[in-house]
Amino acid sequence: MAGKVLSVASECVPLIKTGGLADVVGALPGALADQGWEMRVMLPAYRKLRGHLSQMVEVWRDDHLFGGVARLFAGRVEGLDLLLLDAPHLYDRDGGPYNSSWGDFPDNPQRFAALSWVAAVVARDGVAGWKPEILHAHDWQAGFAPAYLRYFGARGVKSVMTIHNIAFQGWAPAALMGELRLPGEAFHSDALEYYGNLSSLKAGLVTADWITTVSPTYAEELMRPAFGMGLQGVIEARKANVSGILNGVDLDLWDPEATETPYAAANMSGKLRARAALCAEFGIDPPGPLAIVVSRLTDQKGIDLLPQVIPDFVELGGGLAVLGTGDPALEQAMQRLAGQFPGRVAVRLGYDEGLSHRMFAGGDAVLVPSRFEPCGLTQMYGLRFGTLPVVAATGGLADTVIGLSPATQAAGVATGVVFHPTDALAFSQALAKLAALYADPKAWAQVQRAAMRHPVGWEPSAAAYAALYGRLLA
Ligand code: ADP
Repeated sequence: MAGKVLSVASECVPLIKTGGLADVVGALPGALADQGWEMRVMLPAYRKLRGHLSQMVEVWRDDHLFGGVARLFAGRVEGLDLLLLDAPHLYDRDGGPYNSSWGDFPDNPQRFAALSWVAAVVARDGVAGWKPEILHAHDWQAGFAPAYLRYFGARGVKSVMTIHNIAFQGWAPAALMGELRLPGEAFHSDALEYYGNLSSLKAGLVTADWITTVSPTYAEELMRPAFGMGLQGVIEARKANVSGILNGVDLDLWDPEATETPYAAANMSGKLRARAALCAEFGIDPPGPLAIVVSRLTDQKGIDLLPQVIPDFVELGGGLAVLGTGDPALEQAMQRLAGQFPGRVAVRLGYDEGLSHRMFAGGDAVLVPSRFEPCGLTQMYGLRFGTLPVVAATGGLADTVIGLSPATQAAGVATGVVFHPTDALAFSQALAKLAALYADPKAWAQVQRAAMRHPVGWEPSAAAYAALYGRLLA
């Protein structure tokens, strides 16, 4: 083994998930094992995870962790080497990881500081004969872990802080400094203080040995006010220690050869059958390209632009199938659009994993007009399925799709359509380009083949993390 890594997070597939963070945390241990790194994942023992404790071993205990007894359990669960922090006063409750139906848990600062504290203790002292060389903290929930490690003695352990979405910063009142066991002398603007209060994400960003985010372009964007959301200066100040590493997708789960009508780049007839089935399922039948959207319906995702651009796209022969939930105003806007163009536009409001697979298999193109996108997964599913991504040039979208131009087309490397800025004019022009490409079946097939060749698995990402860990320890 090249080394040991403790990964600390609040979510991990297949145990607990609210977003893409969970996919990454769950995929990394397997991908890193192939690179020779042993990664254990530490999570809170939420109520729905406590059932696993009986198959695990208690390896550490503190009778007074932020107001109650805490016990750390180790074991292999669902193929993962897991450390579960059981602290019933903090985690044994109804609701999601962060909130109940009443809203966010008011003691979230304590809940995730406790997780971070124990992670730092394990990293510093080891537990049950296991001591990591690297502490890898994910998002604001684990942000205090590198800080504790820095302030209470790292003993050779290096730390990495990964930003999956900078919009969530882990704010806490300054009055909690003492209760959260943070040293008073660190309450200044170059360390823990954040606009008069605390931010656990900032704490991680100023104290970790290295910062990563989930795409190279997002890493650069985060140094600008429009994207950094108040933390741009902190990241800029550390830019020599910031890098972007793209996420991957699970190639077995997202596999055109494992669909109801299997297909591969060499024989696309299965995709045509999937398209026909999808058209029937949605009750639409466009003569031009069938675009899909599988997304949270929010402003971040640029969904509000669809009503502005789809009428012209329909005029060019295009059709649109939307699957999503989110902002009620945007849900209504999608329904109005479907009402406006029966037979061309249809919408399903809801979350449906199976339908999303059928859409990637049957669609001709996937639209991702995001205003910001740390990495993004749906454009990668699009590449894998030959469902050409039409994306805004931001974050991971810019890093994964090679935009169609006379030069990229001549070189045979274009994998989709990329537009900039994220506005209706540029988006509309991108859709016109897509329709023109569709009208030339030979050119379309060439772009489709290039898209399906594009590597989107975890291997290069895991290699990049492994290289980073190696550099930190060198
Ligand atoms: P984000 O994490 O910002 O929502 P990503 O593109 O990184 O965006 O990941 C979103 C994931 O959720 C993808 O796997 C996408 O297919 C899935 N998804 C989003 N909305 C739906 C839905 N309504 N039904 C099924 N899957 C969805």
